[in-house]
Formats: sequence, structure tokens, C-alpha cells
Amino acid sequence: MTVAMKQITLLGATGSIGVQTLEVIKQGTTPYQVFALSAHSNVSLMLQLCQQHAVRYAVMSDEASAQRLAELIKAEALATVVLAGKQALVEIATHPEVDTVMAAIVGSSGLAPTLAAVEAGKRVLLANKEALVMTGQLFMDAAKRAKAILLPIDSEHNAVFQCLPVAHLEQLPDPRIKHIYLTASGGPFLDRPLSALASVTPEQACAHPNWQMGKKISIDSATMMNKALEIIEAYWLFSLKSDQIKVVVHPQSIVHAMVEYQDGSILAQLGYPDMRTPIAHALAWPERIASGAPLLELFNQGGRLDFLPPDPYRFPVLALARAVLNTAGTASAIFNAANEVAVAEFLRGEIKFLDIPNVIAHTLEALPAQCSDNLDAIIAADHEARRIALNFTQRAMARSVL
Ligand code: NAD
Ligand code: MG
Repeated sequence: MTVAMKQITLLGATGSIGVQTLEVIKQGTTPYQVFALSAHSNVSLMLQLCQQHAVRYAVMSDEASAQRLAELIKAEALATVVLAGKQALVEIATHPEVDTVMAAIVGSSGLAPTLAAVEAGKRVLLANKEALVMTGQLFMDAAKRAKAILLPIDSEHNAVFQCLPVAHLEQLPDPRIKHIYLTASGGPFLDRPLSALASVTPEQACAHPNWQMGKKISIDSATMMNKALEIIEAYWLFSLKSDQIKVVVHPQSIVHAMVEYQDGSILAQLGYPDMRTPIAHALAWPERIASGAPLLELFNQGGRLDFLPPDPYRFPVLALARAVLNTAGTASAIFNAANEVAVAEFLRGEIKFLDIPNVIAHTLEALPAQCSDNLDAIIAADHEARRIALNFTQRAMARSVL
């Protein structure tokens, strides 16, 4: 029996999630043909990916990168059509021949094509949590209207999804669910005294103990902003209340999330910290395929799995996420934008690690949230939050009082 090939677009193909998605597809355990890939500026990796996957379209962010790629594609006699810019991202995300979109651009740059894929009713594999955090209700309403299937790639949300029977997914909010637990490794600085964090470098902050990831999410893991964004992500994906979503520090990163039901049962999803597992789950859903990730050797875990409460003083952004959910409207777009600025400034060596939560808290205080779920209001709030956050980092740097 021949299985119909599904066409997939990968937004953010050259990143950590993008490359691992292509690794799973290359195994041939699921019938996907790569329709289109996008990358910001990594021309050489994009060329390799086009060579390996017979891609129809490749999109680069700027004209100069697209031109360089087009020359190399021509020299290799490949049939890939090279495009550039934001509109081209939307086109490959919504093309009528495309069934599935992997949304794996990092940050707010992924919002427009991810939302467009949702509005076009695609099956959307959602790694780009920032897009959902920014737009919340609007994103979920668009998915419902267009009957888009949202499959979470974030390991914790994918784990929750796996612990919810399909029938429950159709009846959210689900009164049978009491709580969910999102696990957090605690990042690279879990055991360091708070006073020692003042001088950590971007390299140290990016060296995550369990996961290999892009730079932005690695810094987010070290500040726990990643978990803060994930609280908001879970709130929308699973129609939960803020106090139903618990964060638990689990340094081994073997249990990815747990769902507690009213009868006292807690269901968990376990596996090594390897993103190929949630990626393969979402690619094949509702089937199962081999992912290429090693199978968990339960007796090799040193005989223990630890679960600890997060320290609210060390990780102040967790409380900020709860406050943001209580405020609603544009607050979560402001929260996300301030963090994107703070992380970029930290990576540039312009601010210190412990300044990151201060930049976010200041921006939330300085910019009152609007009640609106309208996309223009969200984009305006994102831009204004960036301006305020950047201004704060520059002014404070000048006075060195951040
Ligand atoms: P990454 O930095 O490794 O890759 C980002 C991708 O986005 C690259 O292909 C890059 O070219 C592209 N990109 C960057 N800036 C862009 C711009 N301005 N315009 C267009 N494209 C741009 O990031 P990642 O670690 O793969 O993470 C991607 C997303 O997945 C993030 O939202 C992250 O939070 C989420 N996520 C990642 C992991 C992980 O293990 N890496 C786990 C869970 C969730
Ligand atoms: Mg995660």
C-alpha cells in the first residue's frame, strides 16, 4: 500500500528544532516531503539542507542572503526556488499544497508566519512559544475558527498533550484535571549562590546541563523565563487557570510534565531530554514512530528522580508570569518583548545576568497593558515595550545602577 506523502514547511529550519525535525524526517519513518525551509542568514547550512531534502522553496530573511543562496543553488543545479523577506515566510506557511508547518523561528519574528499557518487551518507543530504567548486568545480563536490542529513541540506541553486522552482534548477546559506540573531543570545555575550570579557570562548561561538548544531559550532557561513563558503557553493551550499550573524543579529532566486528575491519579511522560521525541510524536500523531532518540534506561538514573519547589527569590520571573496572566490583554506581549530585549542585551554583553528580570519588571510597570486582543494593539505594545526596555537598559547602563 502506498502512503500519501504530506508536505511540510519548516520555519526556522537551521535552528536547533529545525535541524532535529529534519533528522527525524530523514529517517523515513513518517511520510513527509519537505516543501519549504526558512532561515535567517545561515546560507551554508541552508544549502546543505536543500541538497539533502529536495526542497521546493527556501526563504532567507534578507535579499543579500537570498542572492548568495540562489547562486549556490544554481551552481549545484538544484531546483529549489529562493525567496526573501517576511511576506515569503507567510506564503510558504500558507501555501495550499502544504499540510503541516513546523513553527520553529525563535521569538516574535515567528509570529506572522505562525499565525498565518494557524489561520490557514494547517496542522501546526508549535515550537515558537513566543508567538502564542504574545497573542494568546487571538491565536487560540484563530485555530478554532480555521480548525487548525495545534501540536505542542515544547517538551513539557507535548508531555501534557500525551497525558490527555484525545477525548479530553476536545473538551477543554476539562473539569477532571486538577493541576498540571511543568518540570524545570533549574538551568546551569541551580546550585550557585545568588550572589555568584552577578558575574556570569553569556557562555556560562548558555551551557545548559541537559538540553542542547538555541541561545535565546538557553538564557531563558537560566533565568527561568522559559518556564514563565511556558506557564502562559500552557494556560492557552490547555484552557487552564493560572493556579492549576505548577512548576516543579526536576534536575534530571526525565519527567517532562505531569497531569493530576480529580481521582488522585497523576499521569507523567518520561524520556531522555531529547527533542526528537516530542518532534516525532507531533509529526506522527496520532500514530507513533521511531524518533532516533535513545530509549530511556530507567535503572541508569542513579536510582532517583528529584522534585523540588522553585525558589521565588532566585527566579522572580515566575511570579511576574502569574501577574501577567491576571492582567491579560497586551501584558504578555509586553512581558515577552521586554525579555527579548533583555536577553539580546545580555548576549551583547551590555547588561548583567541579574539585570534581565529587572528590565522585564520595569517595562511591565512602565507600560500599562491594554485590554484589547486586537493584533494591531498587540504589535503596538510589543514595539513600545521594546523601546522602553532598551531605553531602560541604556539609561541604567550609563548610571551603572541596573
Ligand atoms: P535557534 O536559535 O536554534 O533557531 C532559530 C531559527 O529561527 C533559526 O533557523 C534562525 O535562522 C531563525 N531565525 C532567527 N531569527 C530570525 C528572524 N528574525 N527572522 C526569521 N528567522 C529567524 O532556536 P531554537 O532553539 O531552535 O528554538 C526555536 C523555537 O523553539 C523557540 O521559540 C524556542 O523557545 C522553541 N523551543 C526550542 C527548544 C529546543 O530544544 N531548542 C525546546 C522547546 C521550545
Ligand atoms: Mg520547554
